[in-house]
Amino acid sequence: MRIVMKYGGTSVGNAERFLNTANIAIDTYNKGNEVIVVVSAMSGVTDMLLGAAEKSLKGEDIASILNELRSKHFDACKNIKNEELLKITKEGIDILLVDLEKSLIGVHYLGELSLRSKDRIVSFGERLSSLILSKTIEAQGVPSDKVDAFSLIVTDNNFGEAAVIFNESYKKISNNLSPLLTKGMIPVITGFIAKSKEGDITTLGRGGSDYTASIIGAGIAADEIWIMTDVDGIMTTNPKICSNAYTIPELSYLEAMELAYFGAKVLHPRTIEPAVSKNIPVRVKNSMSESTGTLILKETNANHKVVKAISIIENAAIVYVSGAGMIGVPGVAAKVFKALGDFNINVYMISQGSSEANISFVISEKDTEKSENALRKTFPTKDLVKDISHIKGVNIISVVGKGMKGAVGTAAGLFSAIAKDKINILMISQGSSEVSISFVVSKEDGYKAIRAIHKEYLE
Ligand code: ADP
Ligand code: ASP
Ligand code: MG
Repeated sequence: MRIVMKYGGTSVGNAERFLNTANIAIDTYNKGNEVIVVVSAMSGVTDMLLGAAEKSLKGEDIASILNELRSKHFDACKNIKNEELLKITKEGIDILLVDLEKSLIGVHYLGELSLRSKDRIVSFGERLSSLILSKTIEAQGVPSDKVDAFSLIVTDNNFGEAAVIFNESYKKISNNLSPLLTKGMIPVITGFIAKSKEGDITTLGRGGSDYTASIIGAGIAADEIWIMTDVDGIMTTNPKICSNAYTIPELSYLEAMELAYFGAKVLHPRTIEPAVSKNIPVRVKNSMSESTGTLILKETNANHKVVKAISIIENAAIVYVSGAGMIGVPGVAAKVFKALGDFNINVYMISQGSSEANISFVISEKDTEKSENALRKTFPTKDLVKDISHIKGVNIISVVGKGMKGAVGTAAGLFSAIAKDKINILMISQGSSEVSISFVVSKEDGYKAIRAIHKEYLE
């Protein structure tokens, strides 16, 4: 089999974890599989890099962060038990850190931190971890090399959350990776990062290494894509919120997409798309235990549970757009959403009052002011849109399960379960696919709502 395995930050959190990860890849390879590894930055490193960028902007000293990064990555090399390879790795780390320092100094002198510079600066996290992991594998006697995704994934230049140009990327992936597999190597690819057509470094959004793995899997015609993480697969809800959460053995692509889109951090929201396009099964497994995890497929075997999982998006805001002048005027909604689209604002949920006098939508809290400004630009007078207001600090709770399709009374059951806890619902929406129902509550009620639904449907 040809397997793409992606390891998250905690799976390469220190030297022991690097070795454990290398050993899983090697064991799978020794069983006769072709193995391609995608790796995230060591846990905490992406945030450290962003912190360093902010410090440079303010003109503060970055020497201590650079030293910390150096010793963290040097410590992580401890299991490279081959003098020559260890030396090469440490030299490689120093070369990358010098390059990083130059980028940070640039920010300092320009007094400007653009999204473009941020992408360049955070890219060092994955470039460092991939180097250490490939050398840890090589030191165990299996040929391996780090591959910068720059030579594999082409994007637009929407820095911070770039859009992948698939056809071009798939060609590069196949052309550049196939020869390495033919040579019997384990390529270790940087997750999260890519390059634009213009040659600038871009990123695929936070948590984007999952997405990288899926793009690579689709480009190289993998038989399976494994997302190796720090929990036993996709669980009924985030185990950090509800201690009774447990692993779901199988999910359909659609269910996994809905869960990821509505905040289940275990998968980047776009991970499933490339896998679906080539019908590749995705497994989500724990890199620290032997559990079988979750298998994501086109169709799952019958599972009569109506509700399979619950997810949450925190730090969201509802924006209300209203005005009696909107009634019966065609195209107001289209104008509203075009304005948001033009400003790159992602809309999670939409609701329109039956009177047509109001439209409300949910976005990330950080986009609130930007979206109000965009709307005021589109509707400068108050004839059509009179008021624009918002509520910040809300949570979207999404309940996912294909058994809900056609199951009479699911919504009623859900809402009566949470009504028992006196939780007030601010907005409701049902996905057109009918595999999910989402609703908005205040942030104080978010976790309470999850626990109430979990208790009612999943325990
Ligand atoms: P990685 O570094 O491996 O990419 P992440 O931290 O991005 O790992 O994702 C794993 C985390 O996702 C888990 O530790 C868990 O807290 C969170 N999570 C949220 N929802 C779920 C869910 N439904 N099932 C499993 N984990 C979830
Ligand atoms: N290192 C990146 C992040 O922290 C990407 C990832 O972990 O998937 O967001
Ligand atoms: Mg992640």
